[in-house]
Amino acid sequence: MHDRFAPFPPAATPGALLATVDTPALLLDLDAFERNLDRMQAAADAAGVQLRPHAKAHKCPAVALAQLARGAMGVCCQKASEALPFLRAGVGDVHISNELAAPAKAGPVAQWARHARLSVCVDDALQIEALAAATREAGSALGVLIEIDIGQGRCGVVDAPAVLRLLERLAPHPQLVFRGLQAYQGGLQHLRLRAERRDQALRAAERAGRVVSALESAGVRCATVTGGGTGSVEFDLESGVYTELQPGSYAFMDRDYADNEAGALRFEHALFVATRVMSTAAGTQAVVDAGLKSLTLECGLPVTWPAGGALRYTQANDEHGLIAVETGAPLPPLGRLLRLVPGHCDPTFNLHDELIAFRGERVEALWPIAARGHSR
Ligand code: PLP
Ligand code: MN
Repeated sequence: MHDRFAPFPPAATPGALLATVDTPALLLDLDAFERNLDRMQAAADAAGVQLRPHAKAHKCPAVALAQLARGAMGVCCQKASEALPFLRAGVGDVHISNELAAPAKAGPVAQWARHARLSVCVDDALQIEALAAATREAGSALGVLIEIDIGQGRCGVVDAPAVLRLLERLAPHPQLVFRGLQAYQGGLQHLRLRAERRDQALRAAERAGRVVSALESAGVRCATVTGGGTGSVEFDLESGVYTELQPGSYAFMDRDYADNEAGALRFEHALFVATRVMSTAAGTQAVVDAGLKSLTLECGLPVTWPAGGALRYTQANDEHGLIAVETGAPLPPLGRLLRLVPGHCDPTFNLHDELIAFRGERVEALWPIAARGHSR
């Protein structure tokens, strides 16, 4: 039937002024983003370590392609279904940095592995059996990284003997190619003091290094040791243990990461939630149109940008945000576009269908966040 109702217009069009973007919207400052990518790639190159940025941070194939264009070897995904939009966009090397929670997920992964370089993590023989069956059926080869726990207390086996036991279970399945270890310590990424973060990161890397050495003594070589995040990457690079690093948030820098004491390797805010003043009726505060459905709060409130202004985001409802104004400062007028730095980039990306990439004051492109909601 003919649709009598006009569609809702797009939030922005390339070439338009940023000030005209419909809100709430997720914005990417391309100049800051590209500087972040360049800095991280240069640091990895200087250390002779491969960069495999984590795509769970953004779920956006266009972002991944920009990372690959600068020298990243591939991307990480955290979930099997998350990988598909990246593979379809031409990312040829995807590591699923996680164990698959159900044997049914191994089927599609094994099928994709016929056309791209894919790997997954394991920490149990049952996972190996499921991957072996799926790859046998698909006629494909799949990389396997054995995950070790280096202090986070999440997934992963704890020592070299446990790795060797899993290698025995891998041995009968030549289509499952042992690539090495995944060693990620998420618990230290947001330690605020740099010295404390450094201490913990080097300790975690040492733990990984001890497992690598013990395996070497047993005649097993780990071609890949992968891990690391934005908070630890400067220390992981100098540890000599990692061959490959997986930071994600560095490209965007949310408020939570900006609260870390930075070292020499610094990144800029490139990600913003654009929001508009929708009411000032109370006379004492401004109400904006970005709440919990436009940004997430598990890592604290967003801050207004540029920093140091008179406006403070104080509370989020589902679809409203409250903005307090410093005493004596004027209320922002109705319709005023404000930029917020979100507290945590990953789940905030997951709330948006597209990323509005801008340069200076102009919209340059709309990038689909194609893996948004791909959590299986
Ligand atoms: N690798 C794994 C396995 C992760 O779970 C994470 C984040 O949680 C990262 C890498 C790094 O992410 P980020 O740099 O965004 O903190
Ligand atoms: Mn995160």
